[in-house]
Amino acid sequence: MDSLPTVLLKPGEADRIVAGHPWVYGTSILRLSRPAADGELVQVKDHRQRLLGSGFFNSHSKIHVRLLSPDRIQPDQAFFEERIRLALEVRRRHLPGASSFRVVNAESDFLSGLIVDKYEDVLVVQISSLGMDQRKSLIVEALQRVFSPRAILERGDMASRKFEGLPDAGGLLQGQLEGPLTVNLNGLKFETDLAAGHKTGLYLDQQTNYQRVAGLADRGQVLDAFSFLGGFGLHAARAGAEHVHFLDQSPEAIAAARRNASLNGLTDKCSFESVNVFDWLKAQTATRPHEKLIPRWDAIILDPPSFTRNRAAVPDALRGYKEIHLRSLKLLKPGGTLATFCCSHHVPANLFRDTVLSAAYDARRILRQVATFSQGPDHPIIPMIPETEYLKGFAFELVR
Ligand code: SAH
Repeated sequence: MDSLPTVLLKPGEADRIVAGHPWVYGTSILRLSRPAADGELVQVKDHRQRLLGSGFFNSHSKIHVRLLSPDRIQPDQAFFEERIRLALEVRRRHLPGASSFRVVNAESDFLSGLIVDKYEDVLVVQISSLGMDQRKSLIVEALQRVFSPRAILERGDMASRKFEGLPDAGGLLQGQLEGPLTVNLNGLKFETDLAAGHKTGLYLDQQTNYQRVAGLADRGQVLDAFSFLGGFGLHAARAGAEHVHFLDQSPEAIAAARRNASLNGLTDKCSFESVNVFDWLKAQTATRPHEKLIPRWDAIILDPPSFTRNRAAVPDALRGYKEIHLRSLKLLKPGGTLATFCCSHHVPANLFRDTVLSAAYDARRILRQVATFSQGPDHPIIPMIPETEYLKGFAFELVR
């Protein structure tokens, strides 16, 4: 095994790796013992020649090595099968009873570059590193052995593939799949198009939050803003809300949410509007001189897209977050609940909460924090790998 090409790190570059972070940047590398092919397994050592681990090399990515293990490994089918079984155990332990969930979440499961989602009896694979891409057939075989799925579909239209020099990919890798699939989340049905939907179909990372938010939005008039397939609103409708209004700018998303309401027998309680939430909130909060705004919502759920592709976009994103919170708070009845989420890795929880509080200050509202949220346990957070943490949320009650 010592015949593996060795990547030697510069002095001072090993600590992060020893702590468990799997990325070796090109700038951290002192030299290679011999040239390595892109996608090849390499071993990484510190400047004193101590082994730090092994992983896949790619000179075309800023991340030159994605480590898989602190030891030397053989990345064969058995390796992938074992890692996938370990990841599956974590889900079975923390999401007992779920039939759809993320099985492998890349760095969260020490498989940088690989995501696998399970939607009932269908698997969706996303590969974003060259090393994983070259071993796609081993991964598919391993998945076949663990799950015997009806179909394995690849989604390969993510921007991250370009950073690794990978072209767009996609399509069926195994089995048969036609038309949309009905996914069960917490006993509710969601029809989703795995080949074209957001992410790999829907937002599995909110599965546990749907239930918890529904417990806080279980009465009166509920607004589900940025509703996509209707996850939050339909859970609230089932939990006892009198009426739920869904907003999403995508007409396809609104049509899908409408179908999902009907699939679950909740149509009578639901109404739908395909609009830009910013414009809608602005119109709802506009008042004529001397006119007083009458708040009418018992619960408002805000789950916008990330708004931040990178760190530079954070100030603009915060202005956006502040605006929708300011207007939402004006529309919320006293005693009402605001459940709000931010899925940007670049906006930490404290900064997000400060933004909500600054909106509350401007609106002269006092909030009681009643819940904090994170991504579901099938998107594990490894604190030593900060990139694994991205979703945060809060629920507040309006004191006055
Ligand atoms: N809450 C959803 C996920 C929301 S994803 C769930 O749990 O499944 C974000 C959604 O916001 C997408 O469906 C997108 O179409 C929509 N969107 C993005 N910008 C918007 C805007 N300005 N106004 C309304 N909807 C928007």
